[in-house]
Parts: sequence; structure tokens; C-alpha cells
Amino acid sequence: MTDVLCLPVLILNRHFQPVQVTTAKRAFVLLYGGAANALDEDGEPHDFDLWRSLPVRDGDDIVTIVGGGLRVPRVLHLHRYDRTPRVTVRLTRRNLMFRDAHTCQYCGKHPPLRELNIDHVMPRSRGGADTWENLVTACRVCNLRKGWKTPEEANMNLARRPFRPKWSMTAQILLGSGSTFKEWEPFLKAS
Ligand SMILES: [Zn+2]
Repeated sequence: MTDVLCLPVLILNRHFQPVQVTTAKRAFVLLYGGAANALDEDGEPHDFDLWRSLPVRDGDDIVTIVGGGLRVPRVLHLHRYDRTPRVTVRLTRRNLMFRDAHTCQYCGKHPPLRELNIDHVMPRSRGGADTWENLVTACRVCNLRKGWKTPEEANMNLARRPFRPKWSMTAQILLGSGSTFKEWEPFLKAS
């Protein structure tokens, strides 16, 4: 039960643009409270009472309630824009490489994956943090050459300032990760 309530649910704003991924638990609060409709696999909106009346099918994730099961929605549509902060993509080696298109941010080469390193722009030994803004992918050669220096000290230029991915890229990362539901695809691909 706890696991089911932690399932991810895609949240769309009033204009059907994805704004965040939340938990089923929070989604039920929004649905029950009338702030959002649940969209079925055909994109049809359902308020809580309608949603509750939908039959449970094989393969549905359900929450058991009095009188049967309640489907866990995959997509929720907010009636009004909700100011809840966006959930951003996790800072991982894989996601960093995706952001940087598997390209060395110093020399622009595309080495084989095993020869791509994660470089701290401001070296860790000098207080550089593990953040989207301080990490880039770098080929082994550039990573070694840069060593404990800053790009300026090493006389190396970054292709671009590292950044935290915005939603459009987050959506691409989610699509590429396989951790999405088919009901999300029309909205992620359009974003
Ligand atoms: Zn390089």
C-alpha cells in the first residue's frame, strides 16, 4: 500500500503542459480536494467521484477502499496553475551525461562512455560542490589536464555554463529512463 502511494504521477497545468512529477499520495489529495481531474488513458478527465466509479482492470495499480479498489491515476490535470515547486531531475552521472550530450565540455569530443568523466569545474578539493552548476562531462584527457585547477587557471574553456535542467530536458531524461508510464508520453513528447 505504501509503495502504491509512492508511485509517480505526472501533473499537468491548466494548459496541459507537464509541470512536475508527484506521488500518488499527493495526487489523491489534489483529486479528492477538487483541485485536479485524473486523466484516463484516452485523456478523458474524471473528478474524484467519477474516477472512483471506474472499474479496476488487470494491471492497474490500486488502493483498496471501502467497496473495492481505486485506480492510481497516471496523469492529473490541475484546474488552476499550482505553484508547487517543480520536481527536478536527479543529479546522477547518467543524467549529467545526458544533459551534456555525452560530449566533453572542454574539447567537444564524443569519447566512448567509459572514457567520459565527471569534472568538478571548481575542484572538489577547493570547495567545489556536487551541483548541476559545478559538474560537467569531460573526456579523460581534458579531465587529467585540468587536474586541480579552475578552467581559467588551466586555460581551458567550457562549451557552456553548466545548468540545472529545465522541464523540457527533464522530460527527455524521464522518457529516456524508462521510468515513465505510457499515459505520460503524449504530454512529455509535446513539451
Ligand atoms: Zn576533452
